Amino acid sequence: MKKRALFSRDEMLEMNIKTLKERGVNVDDIAEIAHMQQSKWSDDISMKDCVGSVEKILSLRDTFHLLQLGAEIDRLTEENLIREPIRQILHEDLGMFGIDELFGLELAGLYGTIGKTNFGDIDVNKPLIVARLNSDGKGTKAMCHTFLDDIVGAIAAAASTRVAQMTNEREALKDPTYQEIKLDFDL
Ligand code: MG
Repeated sequence: MKKRALFSRDEMLEMNIKTLKERGVNVDDIAEIAHMQQSKWSDDISMKDCVGSVEKILSLRDTFHLLQLGAEIDRLTEENLIREPIRQILHEDLGMFGIDELFGLELAGLYGTIGKTNFGDIDVNKPLIVARLNSDGKGTKAMCHTFLDDIVGAIAAAASTRVAQMTNEREALKDPTYQEIKLDFDL
């Protein structure tokens, strides 16, 4: 098969889900964080909206590039295929490194300033799967999740923000003067 650099939204979603699965993460794990974060603001956040939002974000081209590159850096670090001095910095998940957080901020920033602040909350408090990735990556096991914990946290933050946008949109549509305009492409 001819090697390609360009993939469809469906293909990118499928490859991202596969890569996450190889690293022990599934869509529901990420959706649970989004659900928990939005449930602070409303009692009726639906898990279906959270799962749908995670899947939507996993189909975005920017997410695809950040996730695939970040997961590959983690894998190469585990397999000692990255040279020193950077290998040890990645392997130790050095607190002052910060390039993994840069990936997270860039991804969460696809959903604006609120996406970034939601990522900051997840980065500091490390809920659910993010805590597990962080402790597995820092433990005695040979695993490296230096990039993955931030990428997973950022997808959860973006999904949480998208759910908030959906809630706001539904509220806005209640206005009786609303007139629908059809948009061509749903980002
Ligand atoms: Mg990290």
